[in-house]
Amino acid sequence: MSKKYILALDQGTTSSRSVIVDEKGTIIGMEQQEFQQIFPKSGWVEHNALEILETQLSTLKKVIQKTGINKADIVGLGITNQRETTVVWDKNTGKPVYNAIVWQDNRTADICEDLKKKGLEDHIKQTTGLVIDAYFSGTKIHWILENVKNAREEAEKGNLIFGTIDSWLLWNLTDKKIHATDYSNASRTLLFDIENLCWDATLISALNIPKSMLPKVKPSSFHFGDFILEEHTIPIAGIAGDQQAALFGQACFNKGEAKNTYGTGCFLLMNTGTELQFSKNGLLTTIAWGINNQVYYALEGSVFNAGSAIQWLRDGLKIINSAEESEAFAKEVEGENPVIVVPAFAGLGAPYWDMYARGGIFGLTRDTGKNHLIKATLESLAYQTKDILIAMQNDAETPLASLKVDGGASANNLLMQFQSDILDTNVERPKIIETTIMGAAYLAGICVGLWKQEDILSHRKIDRTFSPTFTFEIRERLYKKWQKAVERTKNWID
Ligand code: ADP
Repeated sequence: MSKKYILALDQGTTSSRSVIVDEKGTIIGMEQQEFQQIFPKSGWVEHNALEILETQLSTLKKVIQKTGINKADIVGLGITNQRETTVVWDKNTGKPVYNAIVWQDNRTADICEDLKKKGLEDHIKQTTGLVIDAYFSGTKIHWILENVKNAREEAEKGNLIFGTIDSWLLWNLTDKKIHATDYSNASRTLLFDIENLCWDATLISALNIPKSMLPKVKPSSFHFGDFILEEHTIPIAGIAGDQQAALFGQACFNKGEAKNTYGTGCFLLMNTGTELQFSKNGLLTTIAWGINNQVYYALEGSVFNAGSAIQWLRDGLKIINSAEESEAFAKEVEGENPVIVVPAFAGLGAPYWDMYARGGIFGLTRDTGKNHLIKATLESLAYQTKDILIAMQNDAETPLASLKVDGGASANNLLMQFQSDILDTNVERPKIIETTIMGAAYLAGICVGLWKQEDILSHRKIDRTFSPTFTFEIRERLYKKWQKAVERTKNWID
């Protein structure tokens, strides 16, 4: 009997990756290729969409070749992608009219101000679940139409189409036949009505975007089209934005289940089930995925400075040589740490939203040493995560069921134990931390009938579960101290 495999692509911000996953959910091969980051001006970030396509195709072919599998045994293809990054291309020639404008790019801040002046803030929140920010795709499309020669004219004639990176790859992989995206990616455009599951006429008109440019929107686990690789037909059967794919890859299928990715920043998503929940605390409401005729929603929040605070210990203060070393130094501090570090290097995000706040170190005494500082910086990742999770639980009116973790800093055992202690929740770290690309593989595998959602729970191997050890009294005392420190960092610069 021949084996069956899923091919999954992760088109990220700095690299394109492809993996082959076998029937047991094991990654048997991975290829990765970086591509150029283009910074034409301060605050502008672009990618060459053709280079994105090339690197993705080249890793895809290499991984098939290196694993030596039979192409006929690939039963499905899944895609996950950097979200919000915007491509506009000519549907006749296949050429992008401009570089891809990356999610980090803030050139459209003025267009966002205009939307605010038009009084669209409430409408945007109620319709798209988002806040007005240059981060999302809508204002980037508008910028291209206004600033690229002939773009508006060609778009009005119906010659130009828009896509986030998933759409761009899908259209190319299906030989220019399918112009579509999935609900999770559409929900990051600032144009999509996440309740009625359609493009919003008010916003399309406010940003003056011809409707003919927009892709069809489909569930995340869905047969989008076929990728013909030599004589083999591979169904493209799963698409989701990276954070949502990670939530799926972490098997957070139920309401109240959340994942946190500890990277440079932290990305937290909590599954809030099939009903829409809006945030009162500045969190985003987003579509997690669409599967089996059902749409699931999530609340999303991010911590701006997480792993970057550890980098500050290494590169700024130079008190550690590597991020990994932080754990051994922190362990030297016995008992409770009297020091609190608030890494509000560029202000405070959710749920405080104070751009005038600046970082602070509190509780210094004559015997404070570098180990206290290192431990306090690690603990700040856990405190900031707790701040967001409290807001999420209040917004969703759902208690946190569990926290599943991934990302570079989740390797730190001391941090994960403190996270569990301060949350009073189990923290679960999976063996496979490739949760994003596995999410795409699972969405595709479920669509083609290779797996059922229950199978994914059995595939998931847990590396370690951290269980809370703090008493109520200790937990409350420490968290109050953190909140007191945060208060004192607020409104620091004039
Ligand atoms: P990104 O995808 O944002 O680049 P990664 O998931 O690769 O991030 O994680 C890297 C970040 O995690 C770095 O900021 C680094 O400082 C931090 N980090 C990595 N390993 C550890 C560790 N053992 N303890 C604490 N922080 C760590």
